[in-house]
Amino acid sequence: MATTAPGSADAARIRDGEDYVNSLRGRGLNIWLFGEQIEEPVDHPVIRPSINAVARTYDLAVEHPDLASVVSPFTGERVSRFLHICTSADDLVLQNKMQRRLGQLTGTCFQRCVGMDAFNALYSVTWEIDDTQGTDYHQRMRDFLTDMHRGNFVVGGAMTDVKGDRSKPPHQQNDPDMFVHVSRRTKEGVYITGAKAHQTGCINSHWMVVMPTMRLGEGDEDYAIVGAVPVDAPGITYIYGRQSCDTRAMEGGDIDQGNARFGGQEAMVIFDEVFIPNHLVFMDGETEFAAMLVQRFTTYHRRSYVCKTGVGDVLAGAAASIAEMNGADQASHVKDKLVEMTHLNETIYGTGIAASYQGHATRSGAWICDDMLANVCKHHVTKLPYEISRLSQDLAGGLVVTLPSQKDLEHPAIGGLLKKYLSAREGFTAEQRARILRLIENMTLGRNAVGYLTESMHGAGSPQAQRIEIGRAMQLEYKKRLAHALAGITDEADTDAILDEAGSYFSRVFKLPAKAEH
Ligand code: SF4
Ligand code: FE
Repeated sequence: MATTAPGSADAARIRDGEDYVNSLRGRGLNIWLFGEQIEEPVDHPVIRPSINAVARTYDLAVEHPDLASVVSPFTGERVSRFLHICTSADDLVLQNKMQRRLGQLTGTCFQRCVGMDAFNALYSVTWEIDDTQGTDYHQRMRDFLTDMHRGNFVVGGAMTDVKGDRSKPPHQQNDPDMFVHVSRRTKEGVYITGAKAHQTGCINSHWMVVMPTMRLGEGDEDYAIVGAVPVDAPGITYIYGRQSCDTRAMEGGDIDQGNARFGGQEAMVIFDEVFIPNHLVFMDGETEFAAMLVQRFTTYHRRSYVCKTGVGDVLAGAAASIAEMNGADQASHVKDKLVEMTHLNETIYGTGIAASYQGHATRSGAWICDDMLANVCKHHVTKLPYEISRLSQDLAGGLVVTLPSQKDLEHPAIGGLLKKYLSAREGFTAEQRARILRLIENMTLGRNAVGYLTESMHGAGSPQAQRIEIGRAMQLEYKKRLAHALAGITDEADTDAILDEAGSYFSRVFKLPAKAEH
């Protein structure tokens, strides 16, 4: 089924992965990769695996509607859960379960959580802006969401500015384009200029929501812009990010790629006077709300990183498989390493899903997860996948980086020799062994290491960003008073006042469910 232009009144509704892939064709995006313009990304061997990963989100919604879709409150039809505004802790939890499942099915980044988390953050932040400023951003956001639900579209969130000199705020940069900003205004809307770096899944989206990347202050008004743009809007250039070993996808064959079907995608997005009509502007000049938007977005997004536990499940499975193929699976240290990989992986999941279970309602009615636990989840993600990867390479052995190519394995002159000398335990072929080794290489050194490792480090904020948030929320005064009470310095009741502080972590920890019997 072919779809018409996203957002147009007669745009067809995307129902499954095939519809989705077709919806991306013929859009004429200005995409650059390896110094060349790409005519049709859908057919490009380097780009296609990333499209397949997003397509898998649609197919999962068909296979498991309760996990990966919801009935839209705006249209009454089923839409992707990635477009849903959470109205309960269960909604937040189901996002995490869907993310883990998709990580298992793709072994990579499926690219849709940034938009999902941006929508949820913007839903409540536009409500807060309107409440104090008398604007109508929240209704505009609801209207936009309704349109996105009608088409069941992919919406990306575009947050990370290139930032220029990190010691200077946006309005003091030598080049004003280091942060995306309003470069021109008309009575119909605004024009934006600047660039967003590392934009996950941008070319695979139908729409992008552009947002500020950090706290803004006086003088930064033109940078306090939030608005939606179709991915094919005039004035946008996409420059594709390279991934380690990416050209293996252009060599033919599917063994050396490790995971030939699925991959992630990041690109630099350059905006040159891109028009946003007024009805698609959701913040314009309200600098004081930029910090709230970034804080709420990262609260959602940092626990979305449970996606990596699905990927970790695949890696643990690959490590167990190679141990079995090598005949080493009964060794106690091998079993212990697999236990350690699982323990680390579940540690990430435990904090992420706890952040969702510990969610609470914002004044808009949208639910948000717990900020402390979300930050702890993401902070684990900056470290534990590296250790899980190290253990997988330990179990894989050196062959993971010295294995000859598929072309050699299949060559009439030397293929037979390789198959003989690469055989290990009976019952497994040399090719099967090569495939598992290449998968481990793909996830720890190759294309999907981008998502599993370095993106785990820096996505949704680098490690220090989480430490700052954990430090802000750790309530040391409360903890000191606990110590003082037990040491006999103060009265125990002193802690109650601090516990009651609005929004504090411990007041949420100890809040009992409304109907709980105790
Ligand atoms: Fe979603 Fe994970 Fe990819 Fe971020 S890294 S978009 S949370 S799959
Ligand atoms: Fe990310």
